[in-house]
Amino acid sequence: MRIMSPISAIQTINHPIFKQHKISVQIKRDDQIDKVISGNKWRKLKYNLRHAKAIGADGIITFGGCFSNHIHACALACKQQQLSAIGIIRGEQSNHNNYTLSWAQHWGMQLSFVDRKTYRFRNDLDYLQRLQKQYPNYLIVPEGGSNSLALTGMAEVIDELNHQCEFDTIMSPVGSGGTLAGLILGDKAQHEILGISVLKQQNYLEQHVNELLPEHAKSYQNWQIMNQFHRGGYAKFTPDDAQRIHSFAQHVGVGFEPVYSGKMILALLDLMQAGYFSEHQRIVLLHTGGLQGLAGMFDRGLLAKQDWPELPIAPIKQQSSS
Ligand SMILES: *Cc1c(COP(=O)(O)O)cnc(C)c1O
Repeated sequence: MRIMSPISAIQTINHPIFKQHKISVQIKRDDQIDKVISGNKWRKLKYNLRHAKAIGADGIITFGGCFSNHIHACALACKQQQLSAIGIIRGEQSNHNNYTLSWAQHWGMQLSFVDRKTYRFRNDLDYLQRLQKQYPNYLIVPEGGSNSLALTGMAEVIDELNHQCEFDTIMSPVGSGGTLAGLILGDKAQHEILGISVLKQQNYLEQHVNELLPEHAKSYQNWQIMNQFHRGGYAKFTPDDAQRIHSFAQHVGVGFEPVYSGKMILALLDLMQAGYFSEHQRIVLLHTGGLQGLAGMFDRGLLAKQDWPELPIAPIKQQSSS
């Protein structure tokens, strides 16, 4: 992770349906910030790693699933910053050699597998205090990197955009809410902020975003999370959803995946069709990255490899045998 941050590009995308509805769409290519440390995870880690260095921590402890973009990104970012990394992973040890986790270990992350019941304590104060006692010189970073330092990093997206273009609305996928909270903080109620929830939820994400926001930002009213575009739940999608994402990606020449950015695309298309946007509305899509997540879907036969963008880096087994 470079200390000087690169500024990600803003790119206009064209599609007949945008013309038909007379809206303009640009995409903020955070997926291009780094090949591996992708998109929003790079932004969210930036000040966390700086903080870890500043306090003289030995390393980072963080949390994620077996296919986590955050775990993958955090492992390499820590290596680059000469910090140790411990990943507390939800799920079976038998997953340790999948694409995501084999790379994480290759970059030096130490993995500790816990069952779902234990993983549920990941934000529990007692549990975290015990963990901190066990690893006194480590900075504990929550799942997905979403804490107040992450918001500072994400807020910089808006600073960049304010220099790059004029727009009315910014759209982003929402997982844990940290990304959206950072955008809200950085935006200072200048634009409409639309979060697309990629999971089924009962308004706890809105609550979580509010909890993450500093006091002065809690009164902003210019944001919402849309809950009707999760396509069945986290990482769930139908063959038809995948086909629509794939053909949109082909058309605009930008790679997406169906867990995060793809669901934002489907939401955009559905909202447009429903007449949600007004004529000449200028929309910016935040491409949050996450293409490494495709590997796990190829391996499990959930997607056909030839239809989707190339993985950022080759699987580690092939790499070492070549
Ligand atoms: C983690 C992630 C998100 C969700 O970000 P949150 O801050 O957890 O809401 C969106 N897109 C991609 C590609 C991600 O990896």
